[in-house]
Amino acid sequence: MTSNRVQLRPEIAAIVPYRQGAPAAADAFKLSSNENPYEPLPSVLAQLSTHSINRYPDASALELRTQLAERFGVTADSVQVGAGSVAVLAQLVSAAAAPGDEVIYAWRSFEAYPLLVSSAGATSVQVADQADHRHDLAAMSAAITASTRVVIVCSPNNPTSTVVTDAEFRDFMATVPENVLVVLDEAYREFVTDPEAVRGETLVDQYPNLVLLRTFSKAYGLAGLRIGYAIGPEYVMDAARAVAIPLSVTELAQKAATASLEHENELLERVSRINEVREQIVAGLREQGWAVPTPNGNFVWLPTGAATDWAAEVFRSHGIVVRALGEGLRISVGEAESVEKLLRAAQEVVASRK
Ligand code: PMP
Repeated sequence: MTSNRVQLRPEIAAIVPYRQGAPAAADAFKLSSNENPYEPLPSVLAQLSTHSINRYPDASALELRTQLAERFGVTADSVQVGAGSVAVLAQLVSAAAAPGDEVIYAWRSFEAYPLLVSSAGATSVQVADQADHRHDLAAMSAAITASTRVVIVCSPNNPTSTVVTDAEFRDFMATVPENVLVVLDEAYREFVTDPEAVRGETLVDQYPNLVLLRTFSKAYGLAGLRIGYAIGPEYVMDAARAVAIPLSVTELAQKAATASLEHENELLERVSRINEVREQIVAGLREQGWAVPTPNGNFVWLPTGAATDWAAEVFRSHGIVVRALGEGLRISVGEAESVEKLLRAAQEVVASRK
């Protein structure tokens, strides 16, 4: 007997859809999505009124790609732009990995990775982080098989905010076969303060199988416009372009991104202010006894273990909305005014656990 249900790909049923986290009350601090607390710069906002939205965007995003290419010292064809860096990552994964192929990444890491891999019909190979919440690059390297097509390295890692060092990354790259694509996801690159951390821009053109993934969502504060990019070998970027949904990057997003690059200094000043707030939060949490891994993104990882869901509720009762992710809370660095409340919530968690 034939089923009266449409036949879907069986692996799709197993996908856990992306969760955005519960909405925050109007008077709460929303520290659950690693967003930038600042509104766009006036010069960026001004760009948004210059394009007629009855017209399609430039499908090739040539102006933005050219601007990025100049900064990275590469050709415009070595740059791919997408509706958020997550869209570019989806293109890369689906261009490289098919059913039967494996994609390796650390766990915990960005929640969209398993979803993108399953969407491509490929298999996720998750490699546990080390006890200090950092990627275990030796284990990730050891996990490579003849079926591996992509390895994703996330630095700073969402949600633990830890980095891979430059030396670790170079050692790792030396072990990866050149026919395996390595994506270095640096969505939070601009917030990095550890001088030993890997910095993608120093690696451009050094490895034939390396792609850097960056975004305008975080340091540049354009999360709502959806725009991110990748830098890598032209033929890999061409493959990403081939599988991209046409015209998905709006002209408004392209214009806002080019304006943001032109006013980068102002935006990076904001990044410094966000990092100052981050250091206040870390110092406060450590004073309370929390073993917070040193953060390099605009977020802090609070290892709450089995008490995670309850701890998230305690934070919520203090007007702080954070993201509960398995064995810890990911707390975005937001408004300076949120710090006092946040630390009070963390203190209550400590006190109630005693
Ligand atoms: N990579 C990482 C590590 C992230 O945390 C995020 C956003 N949370 C992204 C990529 C995607 O960002 P976007 O699509 O907004 O560029």
